[in-house]
Amino acid sequence: MKKRFSSHELFELRNAIPIRWLIRDELQIPSKISEGVFRFLCPVCHEFQTATHPATNLARCFKCENNFNTIDLVIADKGLGFIESVMFLKQILGMSPNRNGDTAQAVRTLAAGIEFSMPGLR
Ligand SMILES: [Zn+2]
Repeated sequence: MKKRFSSHELFELRNAIPIRWLIRDELQIPSKISEGVFRFLCPVCHEFQTATHPATNLARCFKCENNFNTIDLVIADKGLGFIESVMFLKQILGMSPNRNGDTAQAVRTLAAGIEFSMPGLR
């Protein structure tokens, strides 16, 4: 079977789309702030015993012990297959608030690091 998506594309979809924004604004999964913690209705077990981690851009349900990245969430919430879910995320990536922000910054940081580590090439 032909590989349809590059690992870079999938990495970007998992990381450049903020998971809370995806849950609240795009998938419109019921969510709330409880005791300072963002919680969403788990699409698998329909409990609010969940949390998200902005640093890893992952969501977790403590009740059914599922971990979700952005692709997993679309699969679970919309009942789509993997390829359809990736296509859905590619469409909304352009609307994501992090678009061109994090990715461009990461590339610049990486480029700067390479320059500093190879002074002899200047
Ligand atoms: Zn759950």
